[in-house]
Amino acid sequence: MNEHTHCLIIGSGPAGYTAAIYAARANMKPVQYQGLQPGGQLTITTDVENFPGYPDGIMGPQMMVDFEQQAKRMGTDIRWGMITKVDFSSRPFKVEVDEEKTIEADSVIISTGASAKWLGLESEQRLNGYGVSACAVCDGFFFKGKEVAIVGAGDTACEEALYLSKICSTVHMIIRKDRAGMKASKVMQDRVMSTENIKTYFNSETDEVLGDKKVDGVRIKSIVDGSLMDIPVSAFFVAIGHQPNSDIFKGWLEMDESGYILTKPGTTYTNVPGVFACGDVQDNHYRQAVTAAGSGCMAALDAERWLGAQEALAMQTESEAVTAA
Ligand SMILES: Cc1cc2nc3c(=O)[nH]c(=O)nc-3n(C[C@H](O)[C@H](O)[C@H](O)COP(=O)(O)OP(=O)(O)OC[C@H]3O[C@@H](n4cnc5c(N)ncnc54)[C@H](O)[C@@H]3O)c2cc1C
Repeated sequence: MNEHTHCLIIGSGPAGYTAAIYAARANMKPVQYQGLQPGGQLTITTDVENFPGYPDGIMGPQMMVDFEQQAKRMGTDIRWGMITKVDFSSRPFKVEVDEEKTIEADSVIISTGASAKWLGLESEQRLNGYGVSACAVCDGFFFKGKEVAIVGAGDTACEEALYLSKICSTVHMIIRKDRAGMKASKVMQDRVMSTENIKTYFNSETDEVLGDKKVDGVRIKSIVDGSLMDIPVSAFFVAIGHQPNSDIFKGWLEMDESGYILTKPGTTYTNVPGVFACGDVQDNHYRQAVTAAGSGCMAALDAERWLGAQEALAMQTESEAVTAA
C-alpha cells in the first residue's frame, strides 16, 4: 500500500520551509521533499542583507540551514528526494518520488521555485556570486556608486537597469538586437533611454565576463562587425528571464505562457482544489526570499483551512447518510 500524508510539501527554499513551519505547527504532520537543491536558490549566493531579522546580514546557505532547522524542530518530516510525477486527477493525490515510490497526499503545497536563465559562458559561471548576479534587487546594493553592466532587453531587464541606475554610478546595458527589436514595452524603453546614467549598447553580445577572482569588466562584441570592446565594471547582471520549475505539473495546473503556476489572486489556490502553490514558481514579479516565505505561510494556512472544510463536509455527509438510513 502507498504511504499516505495529510500535507505534502514539494521544495525546500524559503517558501517550502515557511510552509513547513506553519503546517507542522498546525499539526498537519507535513512531509517535505527537498529536491536537487536543498535550501533552494539562496544556497548559491553569499550575503543576504534584505531578509528581516538578520541585522548584520547572513550568508545565504546559513540562512537556509536556519530555516531547515526551524521546520525540523516543529516536526516536519524532511526528506531527500525529487518529485518526478504527479497525478492530480482524484483525491488523495498521487505523487511519485524519484521515479520509484508513490505517496498519496490529501493536500499538496508546491514550492519548486524558478531558475534564472544564464548566457552559458564559462566566465559567467566561474564568477557567479563574485560580481555576477541574476538579481539586481538582491545584489545591486553591494555595488553602490560603482559601474555595472546588465544584459537583457525585456521589461524585467529595463526595470532592473532602472533600479541599478539609482544605486550605481553608471549602468552599461547590453542588448543583442537593435532598438526596434527590443522586447521591452515602449514605455520601459523610453524610461531607460531617458535615464542619464544608463548607457545602451545595441547589436551587442557578451563575449566574456572579465576578472580573476571577482568581476572587473565585461567584453562585448558587436554583432554588426565583430569588433570587441572592454568595459570596466564591478558587477555583471544577467536579466534574460527565469524558468519556473513547473514542468511536472503541466497538464494538471493552469500556467501562464512562461510556465508560472497561476493562483487565485490574493491566495495560493491553484485550479485544482487541494493543490496550493507558493514562492517563485507562481511569482514572476517579486522573486524575493521574503515574498516567497510570505506566500509559503499563506499556502500552509490555505491548505489547513481547506482540509478543515473537507473534513467538516465529510462529517456532514456522513451524518446526513445516518439520518436518511
Ligand atoms: C544568486 C541569487 C541571489 C539571491 N539573493 C537574494 C537576496 O539577497 N535576497 C532575496 O530576498 N532574494 C534573493 N534571491 C532570490 C531568492 O533566492 C528567491 O526569491 C527564493 O529563493 C525563492 O524561494 P522559493 O522557495 O520559491 O524557491 P527556491 O529557493 O528556488 O527553492 C526551490 C526548491 O524546490 C526544490 N525543487 C524543485 N523541483 C523539485 C521537485 N521536482 N521535487 C522536489 N523539490 C523540487 C529545489 O530543490 C529547491 O529546494 C537570490 C537568488 C539568486 C539566484
